[in-house]
Amino acid sequence: MIQKLPGPYYRRVDTSELIPLQREKAEQTIWNRLKQLGNMKRKRCKSQGPLRIGILGCMAERLKEEILQREKMVDILAGPDAYRDLPRLLSVAETGQQAANVLLSLDETYADVMPVQTSSNSVSSFVSIMRGCNNMCTYCIVPFTRGRERSRPVHSILEEVKMLSSQGIKEVTLLGQNVNSYLDTSSLQFPTTNASHLSRGFSTIYKPREGGLRFVDLLDQVSSVDPEMRIRFTSPHPKDFPDEVLHLIRERHNICKQIHIPAQSGSDRVLEAMRRGYTRGAYLDLVQNIREHIPGVSLSSDFITGFCQETEEDHQQTLSLLRDVSYNAAFLFAYSMRKKTRAFHRLKDDVPPEVKKRRLEELIAVFREEAEKVNQRDVGSTQLVLVEGVSKRSSLELCGRNDGNTKVIFPDVPIASNSSLGDDIRARPGDYVLVKITSSSSQSLRGRLLDLAKLQSSPAIS
Ligand code: SF4
Repeated sequence: MIQKLPGPYYRRVDTSELIPLQREKAEQTIWNRLKQLGNMKRKRCKSQGPLRIGILGCMAERLKEEILQREKMVDILAGPDAYRDLPRLLSVAETGQQAANVLLSLDETYADVMPVQTSSNSVSSFVSIMRGCNNMCTYCIVPFTRGRERSRPVHSILEEVKMLSSQGIKEVTLLGQNVNSYLDTSSLQFPTTNASHLSRGFSTIYKPREGGLRFVDLLDQVSSVDPEMRIRFTSPHPKDFPDEVLHLIRERHNICKQIHIPAQSGSDRVLEAMRRGYTRGAYLDLVQNIREHIPGVSLSSDFITGFCQETEEDHQQTLSLLRDVSYNAAFLFAYSMRKKTRAFHRLKDDVPPEVKKRRLEELIAVFREEAEKVNQRDVGSTQLVLVEGVSKRSSLELCGRNDGNTKVIFPDVPIASNSSLGDDIRARPGDYVLVKITSSSSQSLRGRLLDLAKLQSSPAIS
């Protein structure tokens, strides 16, 4: 049995889940699960055949020796770039030995491995477009566990998106650690884009690469596959938002007007210590530029509070950034130091846990206050909503997401425009519907179902 590890960056998180999503918690879950599986393995009788326990992903790469020593019941360890080696690892495990491959690769993108959609009810899907990261933010373990940045070829991504479209998937989120620095140099038959792709006022610690197909080219091609399929992307870095990406988002009806721009801190001092490659001023200029190009855009962000040597003044700067921007969604974390990172070697994790906790609570409070105002502005508007299913709180209600990725809840009633035919036609998962918004909170919108709709012929909001 192989327990797939949870990745820290690949979750779709609601604003209602503003709990610090700490890696320790995820890893503790795995340690607990390993204990359970170890007990199952011990108790297994011969007629059931052997049980093999494997750990896949970042935790396998990060804690390889510790896992092998601490959990003798583990048979297989496979790092994030070693999945192709699983058949060999399994055959080694069959001989009764522990098998491990946690080597990182410079070129593995799993481009030719088509994922299989296991949930037939799902209306949305993630498509991995690149792996790894070259940025080396001082707090981050990703460059060490996922390796250098490499992009999956465009043709392979398009193939997967077409397959998902034929299966009825209505929303695809392009996924990667740093999606908008995507660069496919294998597709040289396509025209290359050599213009600088860095946002104004941003810098990188590595030399920008030239030639090949950039994120804007990929976004253009992916959004042309199916006009009834919404396209989102996460997680981008603020440094890679040239105007041409913003133009395309504005012009293309099925690219959601929703952008995640992880700020991490509102203090220049902390941003420098984090090595983020921008100042608060450059970040705010980018926000303004995005809003000028894409009126009504929804913005979300990530923040880390209590980073090494963060003062009260730094913290106040972060609170004021949250107020200045007014995000629709934010993922807020208390800093937790990781071994191997630059911060671990060079900086001191000196903000006491109770101070981190208090600062996090203050961030959450300010975020919610602002999000409430942002959502309140949608009351009275008509939103185009992709229906996801029955609301968790009531079987009499449906829920879905609007273009800005805010949850919208509405009564599951027959659709008015079809009632004259005598049919009791109702909205179903995968349908686009128009919903008149009647109330809001910091986390969701509520409204009245108006009609079924098409993505290509409906404005996202009116
Ligand atoms: Fe980590 Fe920074 Fe890369 Fe994001 S951009 S994955 S935070 S190193």
